[in-house]
Amino acid sequence: MEGSERPVEAAPALTCWGAAQTVTGSQHLVSTAGGSLLLDCGIIQGRREETDRRNSSFPFRVDHLAAVLLTHAHIDHCGNLPSLVRQGYRGPIYCTSMTAELAAVMLADSAKLQEEESAQAIIRRRYSSPWIEPLYTLQDSARTTGLLTPVEYDSPLTVAPGVTARFTDAGHVPGSAVIHLQIEQYGHRYSLTYTGDLGRPGFGVLPAPAPLPAAGLVLCESTYGGRRHPDPSTTEAALAAAVARAASAGGKLIIPAFGFGRTQIIVHFLLKAMREGAAPSLPIFVDSPLASQVAAVFRRHPEAFAVDLPGDQAAVRYVTSMEESASLPDQPGSSIIIAAGGMGDGGRVAGHLMKTVSDTKNIIALVSFQAPRSLGRQLLDRPEFITLFGKDRPLRAEVRHLEGYSSHADHDDVIAQLRPLIAGQPKVRFVHGEPTAAGALADDLRAAGLKDIAVPAVGEVMELPADPD
Ligand SMILES: [Zn+2]
Repeated sequence: MEGSERPVEAAPALTCWGAAQTVTGSQHLVSTAGGSLLLDCGIIQGRREETDRRNSSFPFRVDHLAAVLLTHAHIDHCGNLPSLVRQGYRGPIYCTSMTAELAAVMLADSAKLQEEESAQAIIRRRYSSPWIEPLYTLQDSARTTGLLTPVEYDSPLTVAPGVTARFTDAGHVPGSAVIHLQIEQYGHRYSLTYTGDLGRPGFGVLPAPAPLPAAGLVLCESTYGGRRHPDPSTTEAALAAAVARAASAGGKLIIPAFGFGRTQIIVHFLLKAMREGAAPSLPIFVDSPLASQVAAVFRRHPEAFAVDLPGDQAAVRYVTSMEESASLPDQPGSSIIIAAGGMGDGGRVAGHLMKTVSDTKNIIALVSFQAPRSLGRQLLDRPEFITLFGKDRPLRAEVRHLEGYSSHADHDDVIAQLRPLIAGQPKVRFVHGEPTAAGALADDLRAAGLKDIAVPAVGEVMELPADPD
């Protein structure tokens, strides 16, 4: 258990319980004299047998938490909050109001998936014991939503005795925040900046991230360490070319995309290309109830964007019914179908792929990272046959990987954000990245004069250095 062997008057400490040397399950515990604070409570993604136990139990005392602070509504940052509530947490979950609205949508969707998965597993095992419980239920997610407590950007608030939190704009997704903590205990002051996920200043969809607040310890994401995004104009041209190819062949353009963020960004760039004459005008269908609900939240908050991305969503057809979804690939003529299931192996996109992969007229555009072993990764490897719904189908459609739509800071963006802090010589700890990515960032920062950089292991306790007087 955390803190049990630490001296009573020790400095506050940070322990990373998730997203340590990997990218899922962000969960960081700050132990202070005024109580423990949890920064994010993401779900650990991966094979269910391996993740179920880790998601359903916490390595710290839930009843010792004074508050939870949430950076943004991506499921790898908020998706395990209902488990925390299931285990008795009833305190506040501080986040921006936009994140609160989006997290409500995301958690309900996640709970529905958990319930469906456990029902399917029960049927598969022919109702034999032990009974497979969902990780959490819609009731748990609704109870969690009730604890979301909106805060304004740049408005400090007391979150525990002696602890003040300030949220600044991370520019990653609408509502996303960097969390800055100032802690006073036993006559000393301490500070911590947690980046959550950082956005891209050059992407132009959201306002640029705010400068990172200086702190004694900076806990920074490292997803794209060692990698650089292509220039946005290259990205836009590749998308326009895919639309032109589908139109000239009289086929469908199938785009698997996550329902929160990536889908709405692709819609924006498709419409932009069509408006500017870079791509022919084709009907656009977004086949995802989740994406539809996210777009509704976006439309209530046009002020959160640097472009009229919410307005764009009104110009395309959001499909929610299963009947209409099933009919989309059979409709005559060229069209663009953006469907849920970012990796291509889940959600409605699998049904569209089944009907389109074997026709040379069609084109499949992958617009996100494709994990090893995912269907998307298989498509990119271009096997002769692809297995969908248990049946091999010839792969004849063209497959393109359109990179550059990530909403994460790349290597240079992270370095640019951290560079102004180097003079203060903070401890910098990298999370939310593979070891090589964090290592690439650490190398550049050391070369720039930063001394204390490390990549923490899961469960490693890190003391916060006292701020200079
Ligand atoms: Zn994120």
